[in-house]
Amino acid sequence: MDKENLFDLTGKVALITGASSGLGKHFAKTLSSYGAKTILAARRIERMESLQKELLNESIVVSLDVTSNKSVNKLREEIENSTGQLDILVNNAGISDPVKFKDISEESWLSVLETNLNGAFRVAKMATDIMLKNNDGGSIINIASILAERVGLNLSSYASAKAALVQLTKSMALELARSNIRVNALAPGYILTEINQDFFNTDEGKSYIGKIPMKRLGLESELDGALLLLASNTSSFMTGSVITVDGGHLVNPL
Ligand code: NDP
Repeated sequence: MDKENLFDLTGKVALITGASSGLGKHFAKTLSSYGAKTILAARRIERMESLQKELLNESIVVSLDVTSNKSVNKLREEIENSTGQLDILVNNAGISDPVKFKDISEESWLSVLETNLNGAFRVAKMATDIMLKNNDGGSIINIASILAERVGLNLSSYASAKAALVQLTKSMALELARSNIRVNALAPGYILTEINQDFFNTDEGKSYIGKIPMKRLGLESELDGALLLLASNTSSFMTGSVITVDGGHLVNPL
């Protein structure tokens, strides 16, 4: 393999959900700068339209609410009527609603599961259908979390959804391997974005950072290596894996 082109994505089409902010926005920029055409999908269209202007390669913006079957079906039509091609899915859209378990409402529980698990399922199923139809393989990258493996206070719904997403990743990997559709998960530790910025600005948040062995939050750019590995043909024999990028957080002492 030519080491210059290890992560080259020229000619590939990548769908990124939750591309309107945070990690998804960064993932779109990274994949685009390595040559992929991108499909940016989330609810806040204006944000993605301004992102589109920054991208180095062709991209389209599509309105998507992962909690709606109708919206996911519309995205499928948009893909089929535009490129018709889909090589990479970064299944990234997600929410968090931190609350103590004793105070959690069914509504809060269901909304986190609906977005982070059922929404990820809907988009993964739609992408799989297109990839199988095109018979040209593909790479699905589910954005999990270190909370899929360990637990944290006030995050029972989020941790449960992410743990299930990892099991979905492995189940899909098993069944889709023969079709050369690779399914892996990327499990970031704490990376500063809109989803957590309020918390890390509090005293509690600042002291929490002290529990991370590297004593700092991650940078979005520090996910690039794992993302590009999973997206590109360099990981052609990898499926069912979970790559953790967390400054050592998962191995902090019990
Ligand atoms: P942000 O809040 O910045 O981004 C979340 C994205 O998800 C937004 O673009 C939002 O777009 C989209 N989204 C939320 N709900 C829906 C929906 N119903 N339909 C479509 N899109 C939706 O958070 P992050 O960037 O931090 O999080 C991205 C992913 O990374 C999440 O899955 C999160 O769990 C995961 N993660 C984040 C970590 C971190 O430290 N930041 C650590 C580990 C995992 P819009 O509102 O426009 O629809």
